[in-house]
Order: sequence, then structure tokens, then C-alpha cells
Amino acid sequence: MLRTHNCGELRLEHVNQKVTLSGWVQKSRDLGGMTFIDLRDRYGITQLAFNMEVNTELCESARKLGREFVVQVEGVVAERSSKNKKIPTGEIEIIVDKLNVLNSSKTPPFTIEDQSDGGEELRMKYRYLDLRRNPVRRNLELRHRLSLATHNFLDKQGFLEIETPYLIKSTPEGARDFVVPSRMNPNQFYALPQSPQTFKQLLMVAGYDRYYQLVKCFRDEDLRADRQPEFTQIDCEMAFVEQEDILNIFEAMVKQLFKEVKGIEITDFPRMEYADAMKYYGSDKPDIRFGMRFVELNQWAQGKGFKAFDDAEIVLAIKAEACADYSRKQLDALTDFVKKPQIGAKGMVYVKYNADGSVKSSVDKFYSAEDLAEWKTATDAKDGDLLLILSGELHHTRKAMNELRLEMGSQLGLRNKDEFAPLWVINFPLLEWDEDSQRYHAMHHPFTSPKKEDVHLLDSEPGRVRANAYDMVINGVEIGGGSIRIHDRALQNMMFHHLGFTPEEAQAQFGFLMDAFEYGAPPHGGIALGFDRLAALFGGSDSIRDYIAFPKNNTGRDVMIDSPSQIAQEQLDELYLQLTPKKEE
Ligand code: ASP
Repeated sequence: MLRTHNCGELRLEHVNQKVTLSGWVQKSRDLGGMTFIDLRDRYGITQLAFNMEVNTELCESARKLGREFVVQVEGVVAERSSKNKKIPTGEIEIIVDKLNVLNSSKTPPFTIEDQSDGGEELRMKYRYLDLRRNPVRRNLELRHRLSLATHNFLDKQGFLEIETPYLIKSTPEGARDFVVPSRMNPNQFYALPQSPQTFKQLLMVAGYDRYYQLVKCFRDEDLRADRQPEFTQIDCEMAFVEQEDILNIFEAMVKQLFKEVKGIEITDFPRMEYADAMKYYGSDKPDIRFGMRFVELNQWAQGKGFKAFDDAEIVLAIKAEACADYSRKQLDALTDFVKKPQIGAKGMVYVKYNADGSVKSSVDKFYSAEDLAEWKTATDAKDGDLLLILSGELHHTRKAMNELRLEMGSQLGLRNKDEFAPLWVINFPLLEWDEDSQRYHAMHHPFTSPKKEDVHLLDSEPGRVRANAYDMVINGVEIGGGSIRIHDRALQNMMFHHLGFTPEEAQAQFGFLMDAFEYGAPPHGGIALGFDRLAALFGGSDSIRDYIAFPKNNTGRDVMIDSPSQIAQEQLDELYLQLTPKKEE
């Protein structure tokens, strides 16, 4: 090996030992007769010392080394006179007697420091340099530990990791497919899996009753901080189980991951009905690190001549404790916030229950002191508290209030990244009405089973049918979701029918699964957790990109390898593909 030790492991106990180290030049300092170099590798930094008087030639070659040169040195470990308490190797240095330059380096386009001077785009273009930085390395180490702990837990529970193919046929997770043309089958295409959903169900039919896989999934959809076109799931499926069994096992898994990787004991893992999540938080992924639940004020706020409330389907309030001293400017800023087009509220009403007992609201003209006292009781407000109120159509108002609540939570420091509040959201609706296509879509996916007691509503009131579906939510992030599946052909057919498939379409797309259901399919269900999201959450970041070695940017490009890109005419010909120029919008 080109080293006896790495750059993070030498201590006082190694003093006087002869060692060989290899690494990158982090920085170099010339101080009078001495030159010091910080040598870096994945494990840390070790100081190298060169003395001009003792070995002029060597010291002069050391002075020529630029940042990021790769070098090998031999020398003796010595105690440092001025110690650096900030790094584990800070008590020693290497008195170098041999220097071997393994490779030179151009000056990197940005500094390889914890706080780099490089912008995101530049760092992505040179991601291999960005990956040398400590914060990025620590993220990948965390990801590795999380992966290992996941494998260990699932292995102990008897799960088998089984790989499923990437070149498949469309899987309906609600996004667009990435497709791959087949040279051997002209004019035909594979789709990359949006998830291994149908395969894991087939594995249940095949009798492998506990399956898992850390697997790449591919979805062509608009990107955000927590979405990448390819991402990793902890994908699982179990046979002979009910919802309760799945919730218990995966709750235990996540608790174990927290314990092993973060040293945190999670005791409480509450469950919340989907309907309640929407009613009290306006979101199917509520952040329950803090309260501020919605209170409906319709019965007290309507019928007093204030049109915005009278015409509204719902009047919703949240209470910000001890915020009655919010200034005009702060309240205006909140009003501007809710009026942003992506939030879309028409305005915001506030009531200040001042600490001195006086009350001030933006609707004093319409409401008496008694009215406002009723709102105070309804919201359980105290003197010193502030009510923020939005009104309008039910769905929109809940959505906007969710944003306002999260904004207030952030402003008030209630969304601490080191605190974790997981929960299960359960009893999701089976179907969701889509205005654009004027039909129902599966809220989860078409293989999710309706609740037995709701099946009779499928024809008459499909929107009211609840599913055996559940999501795991932590700190307002959907970490995963799953369901108990349909396992008989007739019900699966009926489901496809309700989703607007003709029997022929259903057979063409999913015949293989329905056929399998006729050969002894056991009851089964499963879940998939977003592995990148879990890593980002554990690391305290909102961006999954930070936890992926080679991520894509928000237009789905890998700017380092410059992909997607054009392909050669011969490749197109082989694939029977013809290109048409992009239409200008
Ligand atoms: N396949 C689903 C998904 O990717 C998860 C599941 O139902 O197990 O969201």
C-alpha cells in the first residue's frame, strides 16, 4: 500500500514512529525556515513539517506543491509545539524526510473547504471535487450507515433482498415514465420502473413472503428540493399480514434507525386519520413538532355582515402564542406571504388579544368585543396571543393555512431540525377526483385495496371509499407510504374499471398481475420509504441532492457528464427513431 496510516489516525502515542502517508495538499504555509502542509484524505488532516535548514532541497520541493496535488510522504511522527485542539491529529506532525509527488493538480475552480466559495452549479459540474469536501463526505457516510442499519434490521426480521428488473413496462405511481427504446424489438419501448410495485406483488404470489430492496426508482416529474428523477426507496412487501403488522414492523425499523444512526430514542409514533390531518393541519403530511392546529370559526364568524367570511365555505384560524405584539410590518409581511400566487389567499384577518386584556383586530368594524371574545374561547387563546384567519373555499383555504402555519412555525423557531416528530397518517381515500381529466385517479396506486366496509360505496360514492393505505410522515416530510393490496382478480378488475380502464386496456397493461392472482395469491401488503429523504432528514437538510453522490439539477440534467444529450444518427437508425425539432413555445 502507498501508506502505512491514513491522515486521520496518528496521535501522540505514535510519536517517533516512521510512517508513510498519502493524500491531497489541503494548504501550505511557509513560516520563515519552515513549511507546513496540511495533508488531507477521507479520514482527516495531518500536518507535514519541512525544515529549510535540515533539508533545503526537500523543503523547496514542498514549497512548489499546489492545492490538491496528490503526494506520498515518509517521515517520523513528532509532538507539535503549537497544538491544534480543533482536529484529532492536532497534537502531532510528520517531520518529512521523503516526498513523492504522485500527481499534480490544476487549481480547483472553487475552494475545497467546508464553506466553499463555489456556487451550486459550479460545484455540480465538478462534483468529484465537491465530494472531497467534509460536509458532503459526512452526508454520504450518514447515508451509508443508514443503509447498513436498514439491511441489518430487515435481515434480522427475515426479509430477503431480491432485485427486480429496471427495463420493464409502465408502473402506475402517478408520474410519467422514462422510456427506453428497444433495438431488438423495433418501435417498442421499455419503461423504467417508477417503483418495483408489480414485481414485489408477484414475489408475494411466488411465496417469498418478506421481500425488500434498496432500489432505484425513476419518475419523470417536475423536480423540487426533495425530488430527483431517479431516487432510492427502501421497498418492502409482506404476505399474510394486515395493516397493523406493517405499521408495527416499519415503525420499529425507523425507531431502530434513529437509535443506531442518530442515537435518538423515538417513543411516540402516533396515528392520525387522513381526514383529521386535512381538517387540523390542511395537509396529509402534518408537521407535528408544534401545535397551532386549525380551528373552524364558521359558527362564530359568519352572519355578521363581513362578506369575505359570510361567502366563505370555511373560516379557519390558527393561534400564534405570545405573538400579539406582532408589528404592523410583520402582519403585512404575513398578508403578502399568503397572497403570493403559489399560496393564493385573498387576504388575512388578524386578532390581537393583547397582554393588557385589550383586543385589536383587522375586522373591528364588523365584530363586537363579545364576538371576538367568542373566538378567543373557541381557539382557547390567552391574553398575549395572536389569531391569524383565512377564509374561502374549503380545499384552498386549508392548503393556504397549511403554508401559513408552517411559516409561523419556522418564524417562531418551532421547527427544530434536531427534534423528530414521526406519525402515521392512515385511512386515506382510495380515489381522488381529478378536475383536469374529469375522472377519479387512485390516490395511492391502483393495487391498493379498499376498506372492506366501504367497498359497497364504490359505485354510488367512490370519493368516500377509504383505502387500507398509510403514509409515514416525519417533521412534515412524507417519508414513505404503502397499502394492503388487492389480491383477487375480480376486485382488481373493478378497480381498473373505476379508474377508467377498459377491460382490454387493463389486460394489456396489467394482465400479467391479474393472471398471477388466479394462481393462489396470498393476502399481502407493503410499503416503500424514500431513502434519500430519510438520509436528508437525518442529516437535517431539506435537499435530497446533498445526500446523493451524483444528483441531477432541477431541470433533470447531470451537468457534470452533460446529460441528457444527443445520440449519434447510427444509434437513432438502429432504434428506428426519427427526431422532430422542438416546437418553440
Ligand atoms: N410502490 C409504492 C410507492 O412507490 C409503495 C408501496 O405501495 O409499497 O409509493
